[in-house]
Amino acid sequence: MVTASVLALEEPTPDWIRTPTRRDLHEGFDLWLDTLEETVKEESPSLDALSRAVLGRRQELTAQVTEVLIRQRHAQALGQKNAPCPHCGRLLPARGLVSRTVETLVGEVTLERPYFYCLECQQGFYPLDEALELAERRKQWDIQEAGARLAAEVPFETAQELFSQLTGLSLSDHTTHEVVGEVGRGLGVLEVSPTAEEIVQRVASMAQGKKQPPIMVLAIDGAYVPTRPPEAKGPGKGRKRQRARRARWHGEWKEAKGFRFYLVDQARVVQVLSWHQIQKDDQLGEALGQVKEAGLIPEGQVRLCVIGDGAKWIWNRARELFPSAVPILDYYHLSERLHRVALAQFYDDPLKEREWVEATTAKLFFGYIDWVLMDLEGMKPRDEEAAEEIRKLLGYLKENQGRVKYRALRRKGYPIGSGGIESANKFISHVRLKRSGAWWYVERANEMLALRCARYNGTFQRAFQIYKQRAIRGRGLPPS
Ligand SMILES: [Zn+2]
Repeated sequence: MVTASVLALEEPTPDWIRTPTRRDLHEGFDLWLDTLEETVKEESPSLDALSRAVLGRRQELTAQVTEVLIRQRHAQALGQKNAPCPHCGRLLPARGLVSRTVETLVGEVTLERPYFYCLECQQGFYPLDEALELAERRKQWDIQEAGARLAAEVPFETAQELFSQLTGLSLSDHTTHEVVGEVGRGLGVLEVSPTAEEIVQRVASMAQGKKQPPIMVLAIDGAYVPTRPPEAKGPGKGRKRQRARRARWHGEWKEAKGFRFYLVDQARVVQVLSWHQIQKDDQLGEALGQVKEAGLIPEGQVRLCVIGDGAKWIWNRARELFPSAVPILDYYHLSERLHRVALAQFYDDPLKEREWVEATTAKLFFGYIDWVLMDLEGMKPRDEEAAEEIRKLLGYLKENQGRVKYRALRRKGYPIGSGGIESANKFISHVRLKRSGAWWYVERANEMLALRCARYNGTFQRAFQIYKQRAIRGRGLPPS
C-alpha cells in the first residue's frame, strides 16, 4: 500500500488533472476554428450553409469548454490522492484514473477521474461523479429532461426524431421509454400540483379589477384510454412470438378518471390543477382529499363550484371536502339523457324528437325544472323501453334538483357545463394516448398521464427535479 502511494506521487501528473488555463481554452478554440474552416469550402457561403456548419460542429466546442470548466472547478476532486470510504470511513488511496464519457446537450464530455475502492465494504466510488451529480446513464439529466418533455407531447418515435434533428444528438427508443417511466412513476397528485402560492397568484390575476371573487370550478370526469392487459407482456422479441402473443390478448378501453380545478370568467379559462389516472373512484377521491389537506385551494378567495355528471360519490366527496362549493349538474350530460328519452319515445318521428329535446333543454336552461318534471310525469310512454327511460330521467332529475338551477347559476356567472374538463381530457389524455394502434399498459399510461398533467399544470420542471433528486439520493455506490 505504502509503496503504491509513493509510486503514485512520483508519476508525472496526467494531463487531465493539470488545472487548465484560459490559454488552453483559446488553443482549443483555434483548433476548432481550423476544422470549421475546412468544413466550409465555398468561397461565399450562404448564411444557411454557415449556420449548418457551425451547428454541426458546435458540440465539439461546447463540450471542450465544459470539460475545461470541470477541470478548473473540480481540481480538488480530480487530484485527490485519498478519500474516506462513504460506508466505513476508512481512508482509501486512489486506484488510478478511470475514463468515462457522458452525453449532455452541449456534447460528449469525457472525464478522467480517480477511482477508490474499499476492500472491507467491497464498494468502489468516484468522488467526482458525486460532486458533478452525474446520472448513472450515459445520457445526462438535460438530455433526459428534453427527451421526456418531447415524449410527453408526441409519440415516442417522433420524439426521438425531433430530438436528434433539433440537438444533433441521439436518444434511443429504449432510453426515452425508460426515462418517461421513471419520471412518471414517482409522481402523485401533489408532485404535479402547483404550490399554494402559485395558485393564489393565478387567483389574484383573475380577480384583478373585479368586485366579486373569481369563480373556481372543480370538474370531475373521465376519458377512455386504449389499454392492453399485462398478459400482453412476455419474453421473446421475435416477430413470430409477438404476433402469437397479440393474438392471445384483447385491448380494452379503460377510463382515465380525473379532476380539474380551473378559474373562469366570461373571457377566459385559467388552468389551476389537473390530475388524471386510470384509477378507481376511491383513489380519485383520495387524491382530491390530498389537495384539500395540502391547503392548495384558497376557498376563501374564490367562489368554488363543483360540476359533475350526477355520480353520487362525487357530490358526497365534494360536500365532505369543500362544503361551501356550489354543486352543478353538468348540463351537457343532462342533454344526453334527454336525447335518450326522446329517441325511445319518438323514434319514428325525428321532428317531434328534436322538438321535444329543444323545448326541454330550453326549459332547463331558463330554470323551469318544475315544468320539465310535470311534462315527464304526464308523458304517456309508447312502450316498455320508453317507460323505462322516462322513469330513469325522472329519478335523475329529482335527485339532482338542487343542482340544475341553471338560470340562477348563469346569472351569478357560474358555468353550467364542464366544457372545461372535456377539453382538459382531450388535451391530457386523447392527444397523446389515443392514437391508432397504440395500446397502453395501465402503468405506462398512468406514468404518461402524470407527466402530461405536470406539463398542463406548469410543473413539469419541478416533477423532473423530483425524479433527479430521488435518483441522486437513492442510488447506491456503483458496483466494483
Ligand atoms: Zn469501507
